[in-house]
Amino acid sequence: MSFDFLAAALPSVQQLSPYVPGKPVEELARELSLNPEDIVKLASNENPLGPSASVCAAIAEALPELTRYPDGSGFALKSKLAEHYAVETGQVTLGNGSNDILELVARAWLAPGRNAVFSAHAFAVYPIATLASGAECREVPAKDYGHDLDAMAAAIDSNTRVVFIANPNNPTGTWFNQATLNAFLSQVPEHVLVVLDEAYIEYAADSNLPDGMDYLSRYPNLLVSRTFSKAYGLAALRVGYAMSSKAIADVLNRVRQPFNVNSLALVAACAALDDAHYLERSRELNSQGMQQLEEGFKTLGLSWIPSRGNFIAVDFAQDAAPINQALLEQGVIVRPVAGYGMPNFLRVSIGTQAENQRFLDVLTQVLQQA
Ligand SMILES: *Cc1c(COP(=O)(O)O)cnc(C)c1O
Repeated sequence: MSFDFLAAALPSVQQLSPYVPGKPVEELARELSLNPEDIVKLASNENPLGPSASVCAAIAEALPELTRYPDGSGFALKSKLAEHYAVETGQVTLGNGSNDILELVARAWLAPGRNAVFSAHAFAVYPIATLASGAECREVPAKDYGHDLDAMAAAIDSNTRVVFIANPNNPTGTWFNQATLNAFLSQVPEHVLVVLDEAYIEYAADSNLPDGMDYLSRYPNLLVSRTFSKAYGLAALRVGYAMSSKAIADVLNRVRQPFNVNSLALVAACAALDDAHYLERSRELNSQGMQQLEEGFKTLGLSWIPSRGNFIAVDFAQDAAPINQALLEQGVIVRPVAGYGMPNFLRVSIGTQAENQRFLDVLTQVLQQA
């Protein structure tokens, strides 16, 4: 018998199960001997528009510099973000995706004997980052699938160092308003860092969701994390950022890898920030697609959780695993969320009009055969 490396890992690491991503198109194509072009993937909340032309041009221009290390300070992108959101550059932290930001927070403030508070049905990376750093997870029951912020505030104790909240939340799409966020932030003790994960906030621009940036000056324990992976369409490049007080940014800067964001991601994110038209198209396509899926679900007699993200969780009122399997066999990839405590739901990312229609057609057929 060889040495048991799992038994030798941190006890909290032994509790971890690996993150399960959306099934890649190529993998399903291999399994079913299908043509990848015939497969529709609505499983990872990716932007269906494809990359913006100005982003592709910026990347092409940066290619001759591939032999060089990136600018480890991310000066150009940080300056651009600071200007865009009217904060100081010292308040900006860049991440290799916003997942990197979540990891940096955990590494800096969590450890055995400490805990992080987050909601049931919240993003899978919160427990991963927490357990990987040896800390305890305080999972608070949800209210109508959304965050119960009063209960979350009540779950904080003297060993709590971080609270993770997402607005809108993934995979539920649920959200909270300004008054609820204000009431929550005013209850959280000053030693507890509040991570407000706004990965989908750009899709909620026309709703009355709070803009985390508006709360930074009042709450020095607040960190707002955002990403270029969703509405900006750069998931493959891995680039996200955090805005916070300078004191928090200073700590994150100590623990991050020196070159945590690659040079192509840096130039692409700068170009993406300048492309307001792309963002507008992302939002438009998303709200049309959301409406299309809701109407389709209504016709099929299905209920769903109203969502402000670029995805929607649909309720089959029975185990959704066989339905997911039947969809896969027809070349449609969506996301099972049993691992999030929602076995009767599937999460569907909003695609193009044609992708959404293909999904609805196949779903109709699958439900008729059931
Ligand atoms: C997609 C997502 C992110 C962003 O991840 P990246 O690492 O930036 O790609 C962060 N939080 C939530 C809740 C998400 O769904």
